[in-house]
This record gives sequence, C-alpha cells and structure tokens, in this order.
Amino acid sequence: MTELPSTVRHAIERAQASSADPIALFVHDLDALRQHVRAVMAALPPKVELYYAIKANSEAPILDALAPLVHGFEISSGGEIDRVVGCATRKPYVFSGPGKLDSDLRAALRHGVEAIHVESLNEIARLQHLAEAAGRVQAVLIRINPQLPAPLSSKLAMAGTPTPFGIDEPELALAVRQVDQASHLQLKGFHVHAMSHQQQVERHEQLLDLYLQRWPQWRALAANPQTVTHLNVGGGIGVNYLGPQQFDWQRLCTYLGQRLGADAQAPIVRFEPGRFISAFCGYYAIAVLDTKTSHGKHFVVCRGGTHQFRLPVAQGHDHPVIHLPRQPRSTSAATQPWTVVGQLCTPKDILSRDYPLQDVRIGDLLVLPLAGAYGYNISHVDFLCHPRPSLLFVQEGGACQ
Ligand SMILES: *Cc1c(COP(=O)(O)O)cnc(C)c1O
Repeated sequence: MTELPSTVRHAIERAQASSADPIALFVHDLDALRQHVRAVMAALPPKVELYYAIKANSEAPILDALAPLVHGFEISSGGEIDRVVGCATRKPYVFSGPGKLDSDLRAALRHGVEAIHVESLNEIARLQHLAEAAGRVQAVLIRINPQLPAPLSSKLAMAGTPTPFGIDEPELALAVRQVDQASHLQLKGFHVHAMSHQQQVERHEQLLDLYLQRWPQWRALAANPQTVTHLNVGGGIGVNYLGPQQFDWQRLCTYLGQRLGADAQAPIVRFEPGRFISAFCGYYAIAVLDTKTSHGKHFVVCRGGTHQFRLPVAQGHDHPVIHLPRQPRSTSAATQPWTVVGQLCTPKDILSRDYPLQDVRIGDLLVLPLAGAYGYNISHVDFLCHPRPSLLFVQEGGACQ
C-alpha cells in the first residue's frame, strides 16, 4: 500500500514524542495536495473548469492551499460560505444543496456568490424574492435529476433515482420558465451531480456523454438560450481505498477534450469534485493501546476510533493500515490478520477487519492513509459546517433553557 512521505512520518513521530498520552491525529501533506491538484488542473481541456467541493474537507489550510490552483469552490451551507469568505485568496464560489436557509441565501447574495444551484420550484420562488429584496440579479443553475439508464448509476446514486436533489426532467420546462420570468434571476446553466464513488472512467465518460447529448434540449427550453452557457457535471470521482489503481483522470480529460472539440454547441463544462481532490493528502495516525486475542481473533485497540474517522464504517470497507513500529525491529514474526478498533465501547468501532500486520506491539503507531476527504469532518456534528443543535431540557411547570 501507500508509502508514508517522510514529512508526514516525522510530524507524527514529533507529535507522539511531545504528547504525554498516546496520540490520535490527522496529518495533511499540503505539498502532496498541491502537486496532485496541479496535475489535475493541467489535464483539463479548454473550456473546462474545476471547482473544489469543500464539504470533503474545508479546513482553512486546505482551502488556502487550493485557492490559487482551482477555478473556484462549491459550497452547501451558510457555514461553508464563512469558510470560503475567510480564505486568504478569494475565489468564485457556487452554492448547491437542498434545504438552504433564507439566511444562507441572503449571506450568499451579500457575499457575491457566483451562481446558486436551485434544487426545487419552491426554492426558485424563494430565491427570486430574496434576490429582489437584496436588489441583485442572481445567476442560477438549475439542478437536474435526470433520467439515467440503470448501468450508469453507482454505489451512492444522487440522481436517476428518487432523491431530494434537483428537479426531474419532466418538470424542467416549468422550472426554466419560472427562472426566465423571475425579475431577479438569470439562468446561466444546468447542474447535475449524479453520484459519488465513481471508479470507472468508461462509465464516467458515458455519463458526461449523456449530459452533453441532452444539453441542447435543456438549453432550448430557455427564452434566451445564448445566455445559458454552463453545464456543471458535479463531482463524484471516486478514490480506490483498497488497491493501488486510481481513477484515470487524464483519460477522462482527454476524452472530454475530444468530445467538446467536436461539438459546436458545447457548453463550458465545470467539474466540482471533493473526494478526488483532498483524499490523498490526509493521514489518520493512531497509537496502539493494547493487543489481545478474543475467541480466536486478534485485536489492536488504538487511541481514537470511528468517532474521529467514520469513513471506513460509513463506506463499509476495511481501511488500509501502515504500521510504524515504535523502534526499528528486526523481526521474523509472521504476518497475521489484526482487527483494528478504537476506544469506543461499541462493537461497531472498527477501522479495519483482519488487516495483515507483522508483530504489532503496544506503543506502535498505525497510520490510515487516504484520510483527507470525508475523514474527520463527516465524523461529527460539524459536517458541512452546519451549526450544532441546541440541547433543551424541559419539565412540567419548570424552567427550560
Ligand atoms: C458532495 C458533492 C460534491 C462532491 O462530491 P465528491 O464525491 O466528493 O466528488 C459535488 N457536488 C455536489 C452538489 C455535492 O453534493
């Protein structure tokens, strides 16, 4: 599996050396992030843009590293607006997601959002009202939940099936008319984010092809088709957590370049990946607290757990593990399967089952790579930077807070 860059290994070892307790922490390799994203951007054909979906990882140093490299950001909550506005390099940003609050939309209008991706007829009416009150004509993309042939759906389908996202194609004409008739909305294009975890480049090519085939029909619904210029094809590029073979981004870009070059009607295409951008730069390092054997199975009990790194349980996979022995060992111990668990008192707190490791001992460190996207941030109530809920305590006749 993945080798550990020496900067990352040193950071982990330094952190452990200066900590009284065994550690659990995330390390992000910003050099690797920049290098990866430079290659991703360099592969883009003409008339194709890339916005980073910040919900994958919106920590300030990540956004500051990415802002100079990408064309913009995609966000989905008021909390995420604060993150992009707080970024040292201001970049254009677009706002998608169901369940946008009026206060989020007002904040987006105030903070110069480039485009709002409207997800329902109700939202179009609500946004028109708010844009009018703000005295701003707002560019919008209509998010579509298209009819998709079954073979093009994926593990985490977000379109082509019943979902809360976007507008079904039979309702699209109505949605376009509603935007056209809204005094403070300007239709700039269409948005489709159909899936997550796409690992097959052929399928993704077919998917883009299908959108591009439909584009002229979608665009023709508008009163002024020439002002409808953008097709946002979403994110969803997958990461292979279980093997070395990663998504062939270069091949997808080459295909798209040829496809767009041969099409006089072609839109400006915009990608908005999250996972594929930030996953590779992150590492979750956990110290071994105990090793034991129970009913014939070997367990490594570590600091931390799935409350900090929910990704493996969320996806139902066994995460790869890199073993850093506390001291170099010349070991002849046999490799055996270890189940790596955290500190939570639930049998569900499993990071990896039966992972082959050699001579694991208390005080060693285990490092879980590919932890830079949907790692820490999906593991708790801060996901998508939504505010935490209040906890109210009530009783008959008593005070409540
Ligand atoms: C989550 C999301 C993305 C990013 O998805 P990845 O699978 O991380 O690439 C992009 N666009 C929208 C609308 C999303 O909800």
